[in-house]
Amino acid sequence: MSHDDTQEFSPQQQEPPGLTGAMDPTPDHGERSYRGSGRMDGLRALVTGGDSGIGRAVAIAFAREGADVAISYLPEEQQDAEETARWVAEAGRRAALLPGDITDEATARGLPERAVAELGGLEVLVNNAGFQMARRDALEDVTTDEIDRVLKTNLYALLWVTQSALPHLGEGACVVNNSSIQAYQPSTSLLDYASTKAAINNLTVNLAAELGPRGIRVNAVAPGPIWTPLQPATQPPEKVAKFGADTPLGRAGQPAEVAPAFVFLASPSDASYVSGTVLGVTGGKPVF
Ligand code: NAD
Ligand code: MG
Repeated sequence: MSHDDTQEFSPQQQEPPGLTGAMDPTPDHGERSYRGSGRMDGLRALVTGGDSGIGRAVAIAFAREGADVAISYLPEEQQDAEETARWVAEAGRRAALLPGDITDEATARGLPERAVAELGGLEVLVNNAGFQMARRDALEDVTTDEIDRVLKTNLYALLWVTQSALPHLGEGACVVNNSSIQAYQPSTSLLDYASTKAAINNLTVNLAAELGPRGIRVNAVAPGPIWTPLQPATQPPEKVAKFGADTPLGRAGQPAEVAPAFVFLASPSDASYVSGTVLGVTGGKPVF
C-alpha cells in the first residue's frame, strides 16, 4: 500500500469546535508518557484553547514541569476543559478554567486579568486557540462571517490577549504562539487560515524585537498535521481519512509530540537566549 491510499483514520465528522470524546482513535496528550523535570517550577501560564488537542498536551506538560495553568476555551467545551484541569491537578498544580468566546474583544482582553486573579501572576502566555474551516465551495461564496471567525480567533484575539497580558509580564516572561505548516505550504482550501498563520510568524519575530528590551522572549511553534478535534470538525471526511499521510514520516502527529516544543520555548533556562524563532514540528515538512 502506498502512502496515498493508506487510510489511517475512519472518515469521521464533527461540528465545530469538536470534542475529544467523539474522536476515534482518542488523541495522545502525553497523559501516560510525559515526564517533567522541574523546568517550569513555580511559573504561571495561560494557554488559550487549553481544553483539547495541542493545548491540552501543553497544559499537561507544563503542569508536570511545575507550572500552574489557566486554560481558556469555548463554553461548549466545558467537558474537555474539565478533563484537562483534572490532569493538571493530578500533577499537583493549580488549574484555572476560563470559558468564553475570544472572538469577542472584551472576553479576549479580559483573559489575562482572570488568569492573574486565579493564579496570582503570569509568566507564560501561550496563544494556542485557533480556528479553520476547509472551504468546499468557490472562493467567491465565502461569507464575511466565515472570514471573521477565522481572522478574529487566530489574529485579533491573539493581539487582544497579548496586549492585555503585557502589564502582567515582567522580565523573564515569555509568549509562545501556535503557528502552522500552513504558513509555509498553504492549502487552497484553507486560504484565510493559512494567511493568519503566516501573519503569526511575522508578528512573532516583530514582537520579539519589541519586547526583547523588556526581557520578554517571543517564539512560535509551527505544527504539521496533528490529530486533534479541530480536524474532524473542519475537514471533509476524505481528508480526515488520509490526514498526515503526505508527510515524510507518513503519519499524523499526536498532541503529545508537539508539547515538548512548547516546554522548550517556555523554559526560562533551556531557551534563555531563544527569541523570535519558529520551531517546526511537522513530521518532516519544511518550515522555511
Ligand atoms: P483544538 O480544537 O483541540 O484546539 C483549538 C482550540 O481553540 C479549541 O479547543 C478552542 O478552545 C479554541 N478556540 C477556537 N475558537 C475559539 C473561540 N472563538 N473562543 C475561545 N476559544 C476558541 O485543535 P488544535 O489542533 O489543538 O488547535 C490548537 C492550535 O494548533 C490552533 O491554533 C491550530 O491552528 C494549531 N495547529 C493545529 C494543527 C493540527 O493539525 N491540528 C496544525 C497546525 C497548527
Ligand atoms: Mg477544544
